[in-house]
Amino acid sequence: MSNFVWCHGPSCHKSHTQDRIRGVKGSKVLRTRKVKQTHWNSGERYNMYSNFCSQGCYNDFANKYVREVIAIAPRTEALETPINVTKEQATNWAGNIYTETKITAVDNNGG
Ligand SMILES: [Zn+2]
Repeated sequence: MSNFVWCHGPSCHKSHTQDRIRGVKGSKVLRTRKVKQTHWNSGERYNMYSNFCSQGCYNDFANKYVREVIAIAPRTEALETPINVTKEQATNWAGNIYTETKITAVDNNGG
């Protein structure tokens, strides 16, 4: 059984690669690639590579539909993560002393 989806890249069928060539002499076409559904990109691991044959096709899709994608979850204000900042004196490989800034997350019990 062959389990696949067609690549969602809007220009996938326009890339000049041999693996996209289909048809008989005189009526050849470039065809959208199939994206094989494997244990690496389906089920628990469903991700962008479940629907795109390449990073390029994903980028083409994202750039074409960025307004629609952002409309799904618009960011209207900045998010913030509570942190603790500490400064410590440290010594590098050459023996020079410098100040190291350490950022750690604040454990707010899941709040
Ligand atoms: Zn593609």
